Amino acid sequence: MSVETGISTGTTAHENFIFTGERMKNIKLASRETKQRTIIEVGSVKIGEDFLLIAGPCSVESEEQMMETATAVKAAGANMLRGGAFKPRTSPYAFQGLGLKGLKILEKTGREVGLPVVTEVLDTRDVSWVCEYVDMLQIGTRNMQNFSLLKEVGKTKKPVILKRGMYSTLEEWLNCAEYILNEGNPQVILCERGIRTFETYTRNTLDLSAVPAIKELTHLPIIIDPTHGTGRITLIPPMSLAAVVSGADGLAIEVHNNPEVALSDKEQALRPEQFAKLAEQIWQLRAYTMEHLA
Ligand code: PEP
Ligand code: MN
Repeated sequence: MSVETGISTGTTAHENFIFTGERMKNIKLASRETKQRTIIEVGSVKIGEDFLLIAGPCSVESEEQMMETATAVKAAGANMLRGGAFKPRTSPYAFQGLGLKGLKILEKTGREVGLPVVTEVLDTRDVSWVCEYVDMLQIGTRNMQNFSLLKEVGKTKKPVILKRGMYSTLEEWLNCAEYILNEGNPQVILCERGIRTFETYTRNTLDLSAVPAIKELTHLPIIIDPTHGTGRITLIPPMSLAAVVSGADGLAIEVHNNPEVALSDKEQALRPEQFAKLAEQIWQLRAYTMEHLA
């Protein structure tokens, strides 16, 4: 096989190793060669061993919205609550999030409902104080290569979801994980959320092949976000189930108690009852895959 092109028919394991070895030479701490797998404990969930099912709205909007949504997703079997307080919007005129007020609502809701909470950080100046309100931080697709932000979250003791940049290769993504690990924070969870392709029917093209590929390359857990990955309600359930079968360690799904009035991403939020039906299938399929395919 040519190491330069990677084109091969019938690649041997040895050739495959040489190929990835060349490409992935700077992936040191994140490399599968350093350890088999990383397990990250949040609340009662051991991510990397147990299945992580994150659900909640795109943005935190009000106490009532969070309470209704969180109660429903918890009853449906979600084990983590999401909600954005700082929103990275394409337009500066779109809803930017409630900031501190949103974080307080997220924290209170999580505590009352009994779910750990995750939120996105956009700015290095916010990282340390945001940590006081949440169990997990998220770096969004638009900030995957914001190296100062990666270093800042790498200095915290909070687990970090690192979303794949919408234009990024697996190698670039793993180098970004490496930035966080290199600062001393070993708790990184990768999240595939769709990449930009020529396709316009879907919001992004969800790259499910990233799951087994990432598992060959790194010991870090990987979850799937079928919501931003497809941008279409009808595609979220089948892609969630496909993610389970692909071997993903979890899912992050946007759910809103009343999507018609959502302040961001209203067209892609599941209603609580849609999520409940899907969550039941997710848990059944996860149990099946663990028994028969693991
Ligand atoms: C989100 O999860 O709220 C989000 C903004 O996702 P992404 O960074 O993948 O667009
Ligand atoms: Mn969203």
